[in-house]
Amino acid sequence: MDRKVRVRFAPSPTGPLHIGGVRTALYNYLFAKQHDGDLILRIEDTDSNRFVPGAEEYIQESFRWLGIRFDEGVGIGGPHGPYRQSERRDIYKKYVRQLLDAGKAYVAFDTPTELEAKRQEIPNFQYDASTRMQMVNSLTLPPEEVERRIAAGEKYVVRIKIEPNEDVHVHDLVRGEVVINSSIVDDKVLYKSADELPTYHLANVVDDYLMEISHVIRGEEWLPSAPLHVLLYRALGWEDVMPQFAHLPLLLKPDGNGKLSKRDGDRLGFPVFPLEWHDPKTGDVSSGYRESGYFPEAVINFLALLGWHAGSNQEIYSLDELVREFSLDRVSKSGAKFDFEKGKWFNHQYLKAKPDSEVADLFQSVLVQKGIIEDSERVTHVVGLVKDRVNFVPELWNECSFFFKAPTEFDEKSLKKRWKAESPAQMEELMQLIASMDDFSGVHAEPEIMAWIERKGYGVGIVMNAFRICLVGAARGPHIFEITDFIGKEETLNRMRYALEHISM
Ligand code: GLU
Repeated sequence: MDRKVRVRFAPSPTGPLHIGGVRTALYNYLFAKQHDGDLILRIEDTDSNRFVPGAEEYIQESFRWLGIRFDEGVGIGGPHGPYRQSERRDIYKKYVRQLLDAGKAYVAFDTPTELEAKRQEIPNFQYDASTRMQMVNSLTLPPEEVERRIAAGEKYVVRIKIEPNEDVHVHDLVRGEVVINSSIVDDKVLYKSADELPTYHLANVVDDYLMEISHVIRGEEWLPSAPLHVLLYRALGWEDVMPQFAHLPLLLKPDGNGKLSKRDGDRLGFPVFPLEWHDPKTGDVSSGYRESGYFPEAVINFLALLGWHAGSNQEIYSLDELVREFSLDRVSKSGAKFDFEKGKWFNHQYLKAKPDSEVADLFQSVLVQKGIIEDSERVTHVVGLVKDRVNFVPELWNECSFFFKAPTEFDEKSLKKRWKAESPAQMEELMQLIASMDDFSGVHAEPEIMAWIERKGYGVGIVMNAFRICLVGAARGPHIFEITDFIGKEETLNRMRYALEHISM
């Protein structure tokens, strides 16, 4: 059947979006764009106990930052709205009724205490064909009694009636054919009268149907729900338009032992959330990729390759290239180890490839925080000299602070190794030479100072090391005459004077 590709990302607003969820959304996006299809953002908030304020806004802000655009959904609108499940109550009721009338579902009144008692009585209790006739439900009570209880306002749930001993086939585009026997699927709750809301399973299937979803691409943790969803499609008579499934591999801890969790991020010092998250209940703050200085393009590139490979050695992909190259065929079945160092490497590559002026614009905000106001052309020049050395924009400060701010301290190790007995006298002499120069531009100062060193028979290394310590405060930084050229003659002399006054060996 030739169907328009329509996929959805369907998060539950139970907290910040995990980076694995971002990857799921990304793969849905790539798949949709590649097929000229639509990507829908649906908020699955039928479990009011787990609702966390701010989570939905967080999700939307994350995708804005990453540049993943939805075609329909919460915050965008579209012909299949509303896209927030809590606003679709009345829609689901109709399908609950349909399942009840067709005998594919039934009403159950078992209280939590009664259920607990059964669990105690029957080892590995499961509410299913083997036990349902011992329970308090519309299959065991006379119809009038069911009516009476409902009319009296007694709380009930609606459960799906799973026929036992049947092989359920899930055709998964990543995993191939997955076969599960219906006997291990329990009579899941589809609807709760207490809040008049369906549970995840029913709402998810009904919405996928109504929103004309062609492919369900989601995390592996939902694979166990797939047989139930297939059975629900069948029970509702929608088998012909059942979406194709693709369950994505888990993101694993860096050592490959188990699922990547928030705690791994805290323990090993990397973010597992796209944006910083302030927990409204505990006040805890979790770090985010954005606040840690990542470029959204780098995060996208990094995530795209966690679970998918292009079949070549290429590693750097723009979003457009990913749209062209992506294919579910090359999504791996096994979990993807979360290699955080690789994430940094990606950011480094993107930083290196960006024009100096663009990086300089970003670096300006760091400078402003340090109280430094500097012309953008000059900042661009400095950024060009040092940007290959860092992974993140804020790290530039460490590499080039001395262009903008005189050192006030001198690194002990550098002094011990490179500040010689003759250094103070040589620096005094060099100051006189510099003071006498009319043209102190780098191209002019460099040969003049070199010629002076040679005339005097000084060691080039000894003079240059001491000079660098005066200007930088340590034995590091780019070519020294780039620095003198940038800070100018007066500042060079001031720094040398200060160094001579403060270095005591
Ligand atoms: N609401 C589910 C989640 O939070 C959606 C799973 C699915 O995509 O079917 O991930």
